[in-house]
Amino acid sequence: MRHIDLRSDTVTKPTPAMREAMAAAEVGDDVYGEDPTVNELEELTASMLACEAGLFAPSGTQTNLLALLSHCQRGDEYIVGQLAHTYKYEGGGAAVLGSIQPQPLDFEQDGTLDLERVAAAVKPDDFHFAKTKLLCLENTQGGLALPLDYLARARACADRYGLKLHLDGARIFNAAIKCAVEVSEISRHFDTVSVCLSKGLGAPIGSVLCGDRQTIARARRWRKMLGGGMRQAGIIAAAGIFALQHQYRRLQQDHEHARLLADGLSEITECSVDYHAAQTNMVFLTIPRQAVGELQSSMAEQGILLAGGQRIRLVTHLDIDKQDITRLVSSFRDFFSS
Ligand SMILES: *Cc1c(COP(=O)(O)O)cnc(C)c1O
Repeated sequence: MRHIDLRSDTVTKPTPAMREAMAAAEVGDDVYGEDPTVNELEELTASMLACEAGLFAPSGTQTNLLALLSHCQRGDEYIVGQLAHTYKYEGGGAAVLGSIQPQPLDFEQDGTLDLERVAAAVKPDDFHFAKTKLLCLENTQGGLALPLDYLARARACADRYGLKLHLDGARIFNAAIKCAVEVSEISRHFDTVSVCLSKGLGAPIGSVLCGDRQTIARARRWRKMLGGGMRQAGIIAAAGIFALQHQYRRLQQDHEHARLLADGLSEITECSVDYHAAQTNMVFLTIPRQAVGELQSSMAEQGILLAGGQRIRLVTHLDIDKQDITRLVSSFRDFFSS
């Protein structure tokens, strides 16, 4: 039975061609700066993002943390979305390891942070308060690509208040495809950008933090301290290079599959599809409370893996094709009609 795993775009397996590139990678000791393939990946990512330098790390959680630690000191504060990965899903790393205080704000409907509310959250220079140093955005946020003109306004807002600007761009490539621009049109507004190679791009491991040389040098020191300095990491960096070169433009297909999925599921009365959110590779749908659990287990019996809950996130990716979408929609239809 062919499995259909829609829980996340992190579940993809390396393709034979990617494995070949990994096997053939030239390697060296990256802590000495001597792994040519890691160096190539860092330069390639930085140049795509129009940044001076890049830094390869094992995960996006680590690249986000490296950015926070590089921009903020103990007792500083960052403004961040209440549901942002950097705040909610990274184990409180910035607080635990950096003594950096978060100032969370609710995301708006479109995945942005309201800049007037950001401005109001910036603390005055007064010893009662933490020092507000950084604004963090996320793109895509819950499958939504942030509007390009918003990014320019966020940059202006950060400049007005002397804040640095970081982007959790785990899915920045999906955002670029959605906005039909080069990825640098998004990254150019930010001081640092974290990108994931292990999401829709389909590499097994790895993230890259990009920014100016000085900030990346500070991040490199933090990476060593966090135990993220790897040795012959060219083997995994090769997968990242392959992903950027061969599996970036195909994200368009994932977006088309998500749209197909949204269209198919919205014809089922019991499925309430959030059309507004179905912009990139994610579809959110709400099912009746009594179907929670039962739907998940019935689908699992058919080899279809779904996240639990009443509001379900379905994520399309490299290992999902058009037939899988058709099969999933008909399985859902059968489930709700029985
Ligand atoms: C996946 C993800 C990350 C990083 O996750 P890792 O699993 O640590 O690589 C960061 N931000 C967002 C929005 C993500 O989806």
